[in-house]
Amino acid sequence: MAAFKLYVKYKGGKREPLEKAITLLKTYLGSIKDKQTTFDSFDAVIAEDGTTPSLVDTDVIVYLVRNIEKSVIKKQGGTVATAEANENILGMTDLNKKICEVYADRMFQDSSKELAGAIYHEMAHIKSNQDNSMHKNKNGFLKDAPDYNGNPTDENTQFMATNIGKKVSMDASY
Ligand SMILES: [Zn+2]
Repeated sequence: MAAFKLYVKYKGGKREPLEKAITLLKTYLGSIKDKQTTFDSFDAVIAEDGTTPSLVDTDVIVYLVRNIEKSVIKKQGGTVATAEANENILGMTDLNKKICEVYADRMFQDSSKELAGAIYHEMAHIKSNQDNSMHKNKNGFLKDAPDYNGNPTDENTQFMATNIGKKVSMDASY
């Protein structure tokens, strides 16, 4: 069977919260495992800036940037106007360009919980191929204005398990 890998490309922000967030994400991903049959292993790793890991078409990469001025989406010609207008938005996903990013400076007191949650949330957008419509009828980590304390809910985990096997073919070179 296959392996699922989540990459977080480290382009800015503090290192320690990211390392703690990776540990949390490994736990969150682990709880998806029993609810699906596509993958027999799940992992989350840091990709260093300036490197381009080879992704398989089911892998996800989320870019961690210092702030919205460093947006990868914007640099690639997309728009992050929603997040520019609302500082409570911790990350964005561009479904057309297939780019997920989170903004380090928006995590409350460099919270690794918020960082892990924001990464998980953007991963759900790209895997489900849903924009804000994804938030509808969701709770926990996947609702609009999510709460990243605690863990993903059973519903969140089930939603992720349903979508995790989908091919996304993301670009890791930005
Ligand atoms: Zn969202």
